[in-house]
Amino acid sequence: MHTGFSGVVQDDFPRPRGWAPAERLDVLDVSSLPGVGPTMAKRLRAFGIETVRDLLFHAPRRYERAVDEVPISKLGLVEGEVAVEGRVVSARARTLRGRRTLVTAVVRDDSGGQVTASFFNQPWLAERLVPGTQLRLRGKLGRYGFDVKSYDLGEARRTADHAPVYPASEQIPSTRLRELVRAALAAHGRSLPDPLPAELELPLHRDALTALHFPADEGEAEEARRRLALDELVALQLAVGRLRTTDAVAPSLAGPGELAGRYRDVLPFTLTDHQERALMEIDLDLAQTTPMQRLLQGDVGSGKTVVALYALLRAVENGRQGALMAPTETLAEQHFLTLEPLCAQLGVRCVLLTGAVRSKVVREELRTGVAQIAVGTHALIQQDVQFADLAVAVVDEQHRFGVEQRRALAENRSPHVLHMTATPIPRTLALTIYGDLSVSEIAQPPANRKPIITSRVGAERTADAYTRLRVHLDAGRQAYVVCPLIEQSETRLARAAEEEAERLRRGELKSYRVGLLHGRLKTADRREVMRQFAAHELDVLVATTVIEVGVDVPNATIMIVQEADRFGLAQLHQLRGRVGRGSEQSYCLLVSRPAEELTETADLRLQALVDTTDGFELAEVDLDLRREGALLGTRQSGWSDLRFTRLRLDRDLIERARDLANELRDEDGPWQGEADRLLADDADHRGLA
Ligand code: ADP
Ligand code: MG
Repeated sequence: MHTGFSGVVQDDFPRPRGWAPAERLDVLDVSSLPGVGPTMAKRLRAFGIETVRDLLFHAPRRYERAVDEVPISKLGLVEGEVAVEGRVVSARARTLRGRRTLVTAVVRDDSGGQVTASFFNQPWLAERLVPGTQLRLRGKLGRYGFDVKSYDLGEARRTADHAPVYPASEQIPSTRLRELVRAALAAHGRSLPDPLPAELELPLHRDALTALHFPADEGEAEEARRRLALDELVALQLAVGRLRTTDAVAPSLAGPGELAGRYRDVLPFTLTDHQERALMEIDLDLAQTTPMQRLLQGDVGSGKTVVALYALLRAVENGRQGALMAPTETLAEQHFLTLEPLCAQLGVRCVLLTGAVRSKVVREELRTGVAQIAVGTHALIQQDVQFADLAVAVVDEQHRFGVEQRRALAENRSPHVLHMTATPIPRTLALTIYGDLSVSEIAQPPANRKPIITSRVGAERTADAYTRLRVHLDAGRQAYVVCPLIEQSETRLARAAEEEAERLRRGELKSYRVGLLHGRLKTADRREVMRQFAAHELDVLVATTVIEVGVDVPNATIMIVQEADRFGLAQLHQLRGRVGRGSEQSYCLLVSRPAEELTETADLRLQALVDTTDGFELAEVDLDLRREGALLGTRQSGWSDLRFTRLRLDRDLIERARDLANELRDEDGPWQGEADRLLADDADHRGLA
């Protein structure tokens, strides 16, 4: 399938005298590139671009479509964006008010037409626009003449049409980014090693990188993307393979017995077919002596916890213990509040163990086996915690745990493990990402659910949102108000939330019972607030994102998210999942500044939430909008480590990467270095390196 990229013309990239060794691109700061001063370096850093490699791998979000090329003399006759071609007659730079710079160039073409082209905030261009220079410009007539959006200098004739639009383009002009990429490729492009063996006859990795940023057309851009996607998928598969533990033995558990039966009886609902199938799959796994490694995936609110408790009880009825590990204290406590009463009804002893709650008594009960089920945070896997006989471990939202923590849970013991996630990952990708994991999927929520209705509310109409909220409260329902995300510290966030709760108690929510939940509350207080809200002793819970996962109060039917544009898409989806958990119609109101004042991506994020409640679709949108995050580790942001892979389009690549990784696993080559890098990044992002 070898095809070259037509756009890769050697002459475009003057060869550097010395090439940096490949590994240096990882540590080579972007400020080593010409024209990157402290200010630009800082702006780049905001997009996670610190090294030359980061820059080269900053994938465009999309490409500009081609526009008509017109003679300059006809410019006045056409509307909208067009391209013109000509030569520089003269150029000059000046500074506008507010430190903005403007470079203007008089450009003339063969038709004899002449126009003044204006380039904003690209002062370095002035010296390159020497008279006679051939130019192709894309833009439109504006206040300062022809307002240039993108351009080709010299003979190149392509980039202005298919100019990449980067995630960072919102803060840094695409043209500027492309200048930097061009410089980086010129200086270091040839020293990039190919991470896959030459025998495969793939397009060259570095050609793909070039075509990614300077494609001749969309087809070429897509081909480049797929080549880079294959590289990253192989690296990921190799990294995952190294983490896999092999010859462990787990206790084989006898089939479901009396306790499992009673559990079904105490549940206030019947299980869905999807849940039933998951139980069956789990039962089969538990009968084996190979430890279960199963991923239970289902969207927010689809009913995974019920399945998790079943798995834990299966350990208990075999005279052993179960443990559920959650990524945060709030979530652990919330799980405990859900599971403990059910366990109590069944005569099963369930305890909570977190960083804050780690009494000697509880640890003693775990050691002796008096406690049959433990719910907790990673405190559960600390050295000083011993289980009498742990047979089943459930890890909730496992992607939030790092590789190291997951490894610690399995260390010196080999329980059956059920990983739960609300992060929608296609089965094939999950297999790639998590290696030999089997997958159970709850593809549909319980039938009584109605999709949450989401709407956007302009900040100036906030009062209307509270009016709607009060209608729900008056009808005996409950509500959430999510406070704006403040980037500074947890403490300031807590203080802001306190002030907001106070303000609402005096204002919009005067005659209602308003509780407050944030990350700085003492554990006992936080549990009390959650208990009160669950018991309907509170009408409204004002909260920070600590309610993002796990909080489960079916009577809560409406949520207001303040300054919703500040949140990430995955986060908003999780937050929204706190409502719509019962049979009542639920609503989510996203308050933000008007669309025109938002960045393009913020606007698209909010609109995506209005348009769909399908977590799978949102995952795709999120990936499109911001290709970063964490599958291997805990990077905050979202759904994937993969920059180039498109979940829906690249199933074939995912399969291919699996095969390739199997072939390359024991062979030495640059691909091993890529896997090293992924694992190091993962540790890095959790401060383990
Ligand atoms: P998840 O953990 O997947 O987000 P939960 O297990 O917390 O979802 O379930 C969400 C809500 O749905 C809970 O209130 C739970 O009691 C309820 N629920 C779970 N399974 C069913 C079912 N089969 N029928 C009706 N309600 C259910
Ligand atoms: Mg849950």
